Amino acid sequence: MIQVVKDVLFPPTCILCRGKLKQSHSIICLTCELNLPLSFRQHGVQPIERALWGRVRLEWASALYAFSKGSSTQELLHFLKYNSQPETVHAFGQKMGKAIASRTELKKPDVIVPVPLHRKKRKQRGYNQAEELADGVAAVLKCKHRPFLLSREDHAASLTQLGRTDRWQRISRAYQLKEEVEGIDHALLIDDVLTTGATIEVCANLLHEAGVSRVSVATLAFADKLL
Ligand SMILES: [Zn+2]
Repeated sequence: MIQVVKDVLFPPTCILCRGKLKQSHSIICLTCELNLPLSFRQHGVQPIERALWGRVRLEWASALYAFSKGSSTQELLHFLKYNSQPETVHAFGQKMGKAIASRTELKKPDVIVPVPLHRKKRKQRGYNQAEELADGVAAVLKCKHRPFLLSREDHAASLTQLGRTDRWQRISRAYQLKEEVEGIDHALLIDDVLTTGATIEVCANLLHEAGVSRVSVATLAFADKLL
């Protein structure tokens, strides 16, 4: 159906306030977007950096929005993960990229690497939200996007039932390096949300072990209170 006709028959609404949207390609209205709690700081140390200190060696880290249970950020993330279009997720990746680019002191990465999803899950959902975010970041920062540098081999349905140690062991075996890292000095890892930080730790360590000297991290959201 032509988009204009579609918009008349099914007027697009904001996924957060259900108000009418002026632009059909977006999913939240400007008011809701401005009300999303920011984790990103224009200057100084980012909250996500503080949370990862001493756990993993990082060049820098940034997260755009703050996430807490029941927050509008949680609703947004859920939508981007399960109900969205890849183009919409990509647009949020561009917002991440613009925030990163605004901090000119941050060293530009050579490549952008999304946290992978198991291929079965990727097929089920139709896309990997981290990969679409990474594509948006790469477009703004004008860096190479390497979506298949890492892979997720373990197709565990959920790790939430496991204890901390079991979960760590499972996660540390779940990710693998799949491609050459030759010529990569600085990689930027991308994920939708950082909660326990275990996934990022494992992926960053894999890149370091393979010879990548600097690793940075950027996520769309950071769950400050859950750490
Ligand atoms: Zn709204």
